[in-house]
Amino acid sequence: MAKKEPKPLQLVCDLAPTLAQRVFQIREMRNLTVKDLAKLSRFSVSRIEDIESGVETWLSASDRQLLARALNVEPVLLLEVEARRLGSASEEEKLKVQTELAEKILTGLREASCPNCGGSLKCSVEHGLDLDGKVQEYAKAFCLKCPFVLRA
Ligand SMILES: [Zn+2]
Repeated sequence: MAKKEPKPLQLVCDLAPTLAQRVFQIREMRNLTVKDLAKLSRFSVSRIEDIESGVETWLSASDRQLLARALNVEPVLLLEVEARRLGSASEEEKLKVQTELAEKILTGLREASCPNCGGSLKCSVEHGLDLDGKVQEYAKAFCLKCPFVLRA
């Protein structure tokens, strides 16, 4: 039987599984107060409190960037624990997300993060005929983790 290799140092400390817990955990690891983090990220103190208490469960790309920079971590470390984003979005927002994703896929994007859960999205372009018999390109994507599917 093989002996277990010791884990690399950075994996010794398991990161918390929710955005609220993880922001709190990394902030503590960095020895920052809520006020410090608010100042570094330019968020309000109450916003940091909302995030750490789970009131806010996901971040916009620019906010994620700011908060990740303030915490000195990669934005993906926050993204991967953000809660389902599309579940609570309006129809208009969903449509916007899907349209943007479709455009990116049609211009060559093949791997993306799922707009619903942050998991890996597999993207492809399919060809089909439109009503006039002309060849059309359709963007397709599906998530490996949640039921998110894009057909545009
Ligand atoms: Zn997903």
